[in-house]
This record gives sequence, structure tokens and C-alpha cells, in this order.
Amino acid sequence: MTKPVVIAGAGLCGTLLAVRLAQRGFEVELFESRPDMRRADISAGRSINLALSDRGLRALRMVGLEEAVARELIPMRGRLIHPESGDPVFQSYSGRQGEHIHSVSRGGLNMALLDAADDLPHLNVHFETTCTGVDLESATARFHEHATGESYTVEGCVVIGADGAHSAVRQAMLNQAPRLRFDYRLDWLSHGYKELTFPPAPGGAYALEKNALHIWPRGGFMMIALPNPGGSFTVTLFLPFEGENGFEAMTDGPSVRAYFNRWFPDALGLIPDLEDHYFQHPVSSLGTVRCHPWTAYGKSLLLGDAAHAIVPFYGQGMNCAFEDCVVFDECMDEFGDDWLRLFQRVQALRKPNADAIASLAVENFLEMRDHVANPVFMKKRRLETLLENRFTDYFSKYSLVTFREDVSYALAQTLGNAQDAFLMDLCRGDTAPEDMDLQEVMTRIRMHTAHLRQSL
Ligand SMILES: Cc1cc2nc3c(=O)[nH]c(=O)nc-3n(C[C@H](O)[C@H](O)[C@H](O)COP(=O)(O)OP(=O)(O)OC[C@H]3O[C@@H](n4cnc5c(N)ncnc54)[C@H](O)[C@@H]3O)c2cc1C
Repeated sequence: MTKPVVIAGAGLCGTLLAVRLAQRGFEVELFESRPDMRRADISAGRSINLALSDRGLRALRMVGLEEAVARELIPMRGRLIHPESGDPVFQSYSGRQGEHIHSVSRGGLNMALLDAADDLPHLNVHFETTCTGVDLESATARFHEHATGESYTVEGCVVIGADGAHSAVRQAMLNQAPRLRFDYRLDWLSHGYKELTFPPAPGGAYALEKNALHIWPRGGFMMIALPNPGGSFTVTLFLPFEGENGFEAMTDGPSVRAYFNRWFPDALGLIPDLEDHYFQHPVSSLGTVRCHPWTAYGKSLLLGDAAHAIVPFYGQGMNCAFEDCVVFDECMDEFGDDWLRLFQRVQALRKPNADAIASLAVENFLEMRDHVANPVFMKKRRLETLLENRFTDYFSKYSLVTFREDVSYALAQTLGNAQDAFLMDLCRGDTAPEDMDLQEVMTRIRMHTAHLRQSL
């Protein structure tokens, strides 16, 4: 009897990969510690909605789900900045038509993937069954079934760890760290997050602009809001844990109200029962996981957050996890089920890119928090929009990461940073972007980054 591919974690990455492998004809056993979210009333995970962009859409296309999911997406065409004083300012994500990101429900997307899994005869999903350990050399995973309290093992041809930031498969690798020369590092962010909701306005309308990602940057901390179908917004507060502007400053109802009154007064009227709502929701931590190798003995592989959890400020964690699956699939065209070589190639192709997006995500945290309302930065964004509008070969760093699925994260980082340094310098001068000689600016960018642009 052929042994199945065993996958731990039926989140976004694990379910997508399981579907793709089953579509290719592999027997797949997929294990998930949580109940089936289509039947149980559970929150889908860490955030209610997510920003989906081109890399993620490409992965959905790979399994034939792009059209079905597209119907549920809300386009977000740019950032709507809510400054401390003055009117909100819109910053387009791109100067090109049609380049935008999408707000998508995490639960809705996961359920669409699980529905697709149900249609595949070679794929079995086991809910409420936690992976508790893995014998990496024999690809034998141990599971605990919640309903019966029983534990059992399953021997696969391989075991894939798509079990998220606290991966049990990764832990098995860590347990053999000296033998595998396994490096592991977790960098916690100084800031945590708490989710709140702006309910729909009367009649189901959106209380704020629907097609934007809203940001309240406050230098050192911020709040964001993404639209949901039905008129509500999921709001995320990103604050330091400690200090006078941190979560610890809000100890009771009056201090929460005073905080919002001081920092987000325009949001106050949008959250009825703010105080109750605030204390019903937990504060969660954020961190970056880096590890290597992602594969052991040609029998196991880490993918998605299990291999590279990142902070959410580029909106790319899921997109990157989905891209892992696309690359895995492309490598299969070359290596088939020669798992050893397949896993090594996937690791070689993905690790540098996961490292790049991890750094970009932390940098973008500083940008969103500190710089989006900074006049030089705003000028640079205007200039970039003009350049993108006029020149087909200009892509801002944000566009390279978000809209160029054919450009690796690593190249997007190097080229994007080089362009940014050049444009920020230019924008420190007195000339407004609208008065600049764009042809001259573009010629200088092309010269300045010629060595990097060859691979565009
Ligand atoms: C606040 C926040 C906002 C975010 N916003 C965005 C965004 O806008 N865009 C974006 O692209 N990304 C975003 N992300 C990142 C994104 O959520 C993750 O990158 C993505 O969920 C990774 O998918 P995954 O399948 O690898 O891991 P997960 O989604 O964590 O799935 C892992 C699954 O494995 C299960 N599991 C865990 N342990 C076990 C075990 N031992 N046995 C069996 N099952 C197990 C879990 O229950 C879960 O279902 C955000 C993250 C956070 C925290």
C-alpha cells in the first residue's frame, strides 16, 4: 500500500497544499487540531480579515479557486491616512490602474479551501486531532484525537509541517538540533495587537470609505481598519505592551475612553460600547520566526508560518505561505516525488525570499507607524504614483512586493530599498513632485539601479 503524504495543520497553507497534492493524485492525510470551522462556531484564527494580493491570488488560481474567492473580495485601492489633525489623506497603492489589494475573510478563505478538499477523493481531513510529535527519519507522526482521548501514529511517505508559528513538526527538528544543525530564532516585536470592530452604519452602510485600508499612524503606535462584507470594519490596535501609550495604560473603562479621545477621536463614535468591547478582546503578541533547515532526511518539510512566521505589516504572511505552495508545485514538475531533492530545492528557493519578506515586514511596521504621515514620505509616495502612472518599468517597493508575483521578495527588497533611498533624497528638496522633470528622474533611477533592473 502506498503511504500518504501527511500534513499537520489545515490552516491556509496546509489546506492549499493538500488540495494541490490531491489534485496531482497523491493520497493526503491532513490533520488539524481545531474543530471544523464550517460546523463549529470558532474564530478562524489570529485575524478576522487579511490583505490578499497577487502572490496569493496566483496560488488560488493554481487550485482553481480564484474565481470563487474573487466574489468575496473587497478591493482596497490605497491607504486612507487619518492624521492627528486635519482631514484624512488618500495614498494610492499604485499609480497604475487595477493594481490594488483585497480584504478577505480568513475564515471564508479557509472554508473555501476545506470545501475544495472535500471534493477530492484522495484527501482526508481529520479535525480536532493534534500532532504531538514526529519521528523525522521514518516520517511517522504522532497524533492525539480530542474526542476519544486516544493517541496513534501515522506513517507517511513524508510529513509536511504547515502547523503555523508554534509548529510541532518544527519542534521535532529543534529536538534534533545538534544532528540537523538546526538554527531557530524567534524575535518578539515590542508591540502587541488587539482586534476591535466598527459595526456597520445604519442601513448596513460603511461608516468609513469602503475601498481603502485605513491607518491612524501616531508615531510609535497605530491603529488600522480593513473592510468586511456587510458594512463592518475589523480594527487592529498595534501598541507597545508597556509605557504611557501602551496597552498597560488602559486599565479600566475611563482610561480606554480617555486614550481613544486623545489619539483616535474620530474612531470614538464608531465603536459603541467601546469599553466592554475593548476588554472582551485579548492582547496578542507578534514575532518573527527564522529557522534552517526547513527539511530533514528528505522526509519532512516546513512550510508557511511553521517555517517563517512574520509580522503582519506588509500583509504578506499568508501570501508568502501561498507562494511557498506554488513554488513547491512548480518544483514537483521537475522532481516529482523525489522528495529529498524536491524539499531541498523548495528550501533553497524559498528561504532567501522568506528572510527578505520578514525584514520588509518589520521595516514596513516602522513606515506605517512613523512615516506615512511624514511630509517627505508623503511627497515620495506622490512622486512614485506619478512615475508608475507614466512609466511602465517603474514599480515602487510596495508594488514590487505586492503586485509583481514574478519578482522575488529578495529582489523586491534590494531594488525597492535602492529606489527608496534615491527618491527620499530627492524629496527632501523644495520641488513638488508635480513640478519635477519625471523623465529626468526616471533616467536617473534607471542608471542608479541598472544592475538590479536587469532581472525585472
Ligand atoms: C494580526 C495578523 C494580521 C495578519 N494579516 C495578514 C494579511 O493581511 N495578509 C497576509 O498575507 N497575512 C497576514 N497575516 C499572516 C497570516 O495570518 C499567516 O501568515 C498565515 O495564516 C499563515 O498560514 P499557515 O497555514 O502557515 O499558518 P496558520 O494560519 O497559523 O495555520 C496553521 C494551522 O495549523 C493548526 N495547528 C497548529 N498546531 C497544530 C498541531 N500541532 N497539530 C495539528 N494542527 C495544528 C492550527 O490550528 C492552524 O489551523 C496576519 C497575521 C496576524 C497575526
